[in-house]
Amino acid sequence: MSRSAHPAGPRHADVLPEGHYTAPAADLNVLDEKVWSRTVRRNGDGVATVAGIEVTRLAEEFGTPAYILDEADFRARCRAWSDAFGSDADVYYAGKAFLSRAVVRWLHEEGLNLDVCSGGELATALAAGMPAERVAFHGNNKSAQEIERAVEAGVGRIVLDSFQEIVRVAHTARRLGVRQRVQIRVTVGVEAHTHEFIATAHEDQKFGIALAGGQAAEAVRRALALDSLELTGIHSHIGSQIFDMAGFEVSARRVVQLLAQIRDEHGVELPEIDLGGGLGIAYTSEDDPREPHDIAKALSDIVTRECESAGLATPRISVEPGRAIVGPTAFTLYEVGTIKPLEGLRTYVSVDGGMSDNIRTALYDAEYSVALVSRRSDAEAMLTRVVGKHCESGDIVVRDAFLPADLAPGDLIAVPATGAYCRSMASNYNHALRPPVVAVRDGAARVIVRRETEEDLLRLDVGE
Ligand SMILES: *Cc1c(COP(=O)(O)O)cnc(C)c1O
Repeated sequence: MSRSAHPAGPRHADVLPEGHYTAPAADLNVLDEKVWSRTVRRNGDGVATVAGIEVTRLAEEFGTPAYILDEADFRARCRAWSDAFGSDADVYYAGKAFLSRAVVRWLHEEGLNLDVCSGGELATALAAGMPAERVAFHGNNKSAQEIERAVEAGVGRIVLDSFQEIVRVAHTARRLGVRQRVQIRVTVGVEAHTHEFIATAHEDQKFGIALAGGQAAEAVRRALALDSLELTGIHSHIGSQIFDMAGFEVSARRVVQLLAQIRDEHGVELPEIDLGGGLGIAYTSEDDPREPHDIAKALSDIVTRECESAGLATPRISVEPGRAIVGPTAFTLYEVGTIKPLEGLRTYVSVDGGMSDNIRTALYDAEYSVALVSRRSDAEAMLTRVVGKHCESGDIVVRDAFLPADLAPGDLIAVPATGAYCRSMASNYNHALRPPVVAVRDGAARVIVRRETEEDLLRLDVGE
């Protein structure tokens, strides 16, 4: 690997420009197990390994950038979630976080169910042999073809998101001669992101049917009146990257109140309640996500308590973690290119990918960690911004990060916790070729989604 000298960048001891960062870790060589997937270590030579394979070998064999997915970790998280919720609840993996046929097979083998929200995700699920009855179909604007495909395939649940959709799904089911199981997605007036939740005025968004003003109760009335629909429960999803259970508490209470109202009005107790996904993960050492076991206990305690006080039998709970399962299981491996020290500011470190393989920093101001993984370094810490190679100044992968001051072109750096919403949101901006997903397990690596080629790009461009 080449090492070219470059002028030293600003050190953390110098002027610290604006930004959200904490002091650098005492030893930048330490890979915090909180943010790295389960089998990541650093070997005796200082090279990071995953499932026993050196990242330098992965880079040689598969190129960079690449998403490296720790299969054992993925499977362990699936099991942790299904064990935590036990046999009285169902875990649906939210496929939009990252979906491929291999992932569908792992989910199937580990006994999880699957959420999809488009025809493409449904096609992937079915192509990999996921039984349709274990699939739930979401979306605020499902097309007629998507509804038809889902009903025809026999999906276990369609989550109704609007008044129009109640009628559309009912008509399709009637035409196909089936009674489709459905839930109604309600907007409970709670929105939760990260460490906070807000419990007012969040009906102002595109998803679901508002509890406020009796909208949800009216949707229930209409769904119950249609023979081709079997209304099994109420669904609520309140946000993403949530650490605090308070938002779920309010959401569960409001959903249970609706169940009680349905019983009083219609004499039926709906048997299911889905509390959605959105559970947070550690992107940096500062984040403290809860364990699935704690989450399961908290949710089931809330629902049980609320049902008891409403005199209802406890319904079957389902949850839909996406990020919390796949997010921590992958990291993105990049090669360092240009390094620009900006005196008094920070050092810009360019990698061979960027916003095309991780849009979350630009889109949500997401925070990430980063580490030098191809060698150990005892150089002091320098404040950097890890940026991509795209034609946008907002093309930032890690806004504020400390890396060793002797970082050089050709070094490999890796950004952990990129399993969710990175490959699935990847783009071809600047005609970038989307990186492969390489699954590693027990000392073996295999491509589960291959790298795009220029041929792939040109195949879509019909040329006339
Ligand atoms: C996005 C989404 C999820 C998954 O969210 P995560 O933050 O990945 O856990 C679950 N349910 C619904 C309805 C969603 O839209």
